[in-house]
Amino acid sequence: MPVPAPPRPVMSRGVLGRLVVTAAIVVIMLAVAVIALKLGVRDEPDPTASGTGTAAASAPPAASAQANSAQANSGQATPAPPASARIQAPVTSAAPKPRDDSPQIPRDPADLGVLVNKDHGLEPTSYAPENLRTLNGQQLRADATGALEKLMRGAAKDGHNLKLLSGYRSAAEQDALRNSYEQRYGTSYANTISAPAGFSEHQTGLAADVGNGRCDLEKCFGQTPAGKWVAKNASKYGFTVRYPLGQEESTGYAYEPWHLRYLGSKTSKDLVKSKAKTLEQYYGLKP
Ligand SMILES: [Zn+2]
Repeated sequence: MPVPAPPRPVMSRGVLGRLVVTAAIVVIMLAVAVIALKLGVRDEPDPTASGTGTAAASAPPAASAQANSAQANSGQATPAPPASARIQAPVTSAAPKPRDDSPQIPRDPADLGVLVNKDHGLEPTSYAPENLRTLNGQQLRADATGALEKLMRGAAKDGHNLKLLSGYRSAAEQDALRNSYEQRYGTSYANTISAPAGFSEHQTGLAADVGNGRCDLEKCFGQTPAGKWVAKNASKYGFTVRYPLGQEESTGYAYEPWHLRYLGSKTSKDLVKSKAKTLEQYYGLKP
């Protein structure tokens, strides 16, 4: 090894460290270039540029690939100290910390993976999906409708005649429904069975309440053959049973074996693979 003493400490920083340093260099060089262009001052960029150049020039002679990468590190690390104060701010903004290995929560209300619950409302609250299609007198987003039709055909093959009982609800319809529940049952119970406008999955056009005439929209649907079929097969068609039994803490809602949420086939399969029982768990939120 040809004198790699200075670069060594940098290696221990690992890949993240290298990325941060690289990002810092890029930011500094850009900032310096901008300043040079604006002010016509050439003093600042030169030391940085020559520092990088010198270190980089010494890199190629190194024998092994490892030595090369060590040199590359040192090349990037060397100019950092001189530009001290100005590095700090860009580095933090250029290298956001990953929360964990959970997927990112989509914010676009039109995204198939959008999370809607009591803590995550639609933005805007008045959101209305495009491309609604009608099925069984109800509306759903076109992509969700196609998937639900496939699910229904699959269920029919196994002897279950499912229907779409409730699909898309506009913000105004959601508010009206919510008000009627509040008047009938009181606010606290209404909270467990319905949501205000902007906080219902039905407003996305991706939620489908299904049933076959037995225990429709009742918990006992989960114990019927059709309900069991739905629980077992929904994910194969891109859906998830959104409010499973025993997951009230996670979802904020009581068990609803009839309420399906379309996620698309990729996310619905990912969710099963992840062993998450709810969308909240899938996104690394509530246990
Ligand atoms: Zn529902």
